[in-house]
Amino acid sequence: MAFYTLNDIAYLAANCHANKATLHWSGGGYTNTSPHYHLNILGDGRVWSDFDSFDTTGQHTWHRNTGNIGISILCCADASVDTEGNVTWGNYPPTDEQVDKMAMIVKTIADVKDWNIDKEHFKTHNDWALIDGYSIYDNDPDMRWDLIALPQEDGDGGAIIRGKAIWYHCHPEECKD
Ligand SMILES: [Zn+2]
Repeated sequence: MAFYTLNDIAYLAANCHANKATLHWSGGGYTNTSPHYHLNILGDGRVWSDFDSFDTTGQHTWHRNTGNIGISILCCADASVDTEGNVTWGNYPPTDEQVDKMAMIVKTIADVKDWNIDKEHFKTHNDWALIDGYSIYDNDPDMRWDLIALPQEDGDGGAIIRGKAIWYHCHPEECKD
């Protein structure tokens, strides 16, 4: 159990067998960490983990946890979404520090694992919910919509994070704690 730097995360990624990662938000406050995720990104951008290996199976994505690194921004306690995907952010919207750190983590893991920064390797929980039938369109009581959007810019939240990660890949000197 520790706060991790990007260097720590590179080491953990290099020494694991994962073949993908999933991007979440927690639905809690800015400091409410959870052992369901491998990496918890606090509101101020610090990264907490209850684990010292990414090979510990997480509990973050229904039926999809094998070989899947769970990364979560801690936010959205009282956010809501309507049936058309319009988000009301509430009192704990994703912070700039969280969005930037998540993108840096995606870049760091992709570089170490030699993964493309794409939807094949980095889906959001919203992406999995659409695939597995518990999205905003599915009437599932345990509906998920993590990163369907972000307050920082318009568009799909996962595409925004992946786009920022690609930018960091091209500007590695800017990718630092
Ligand atoms: Zn989630």
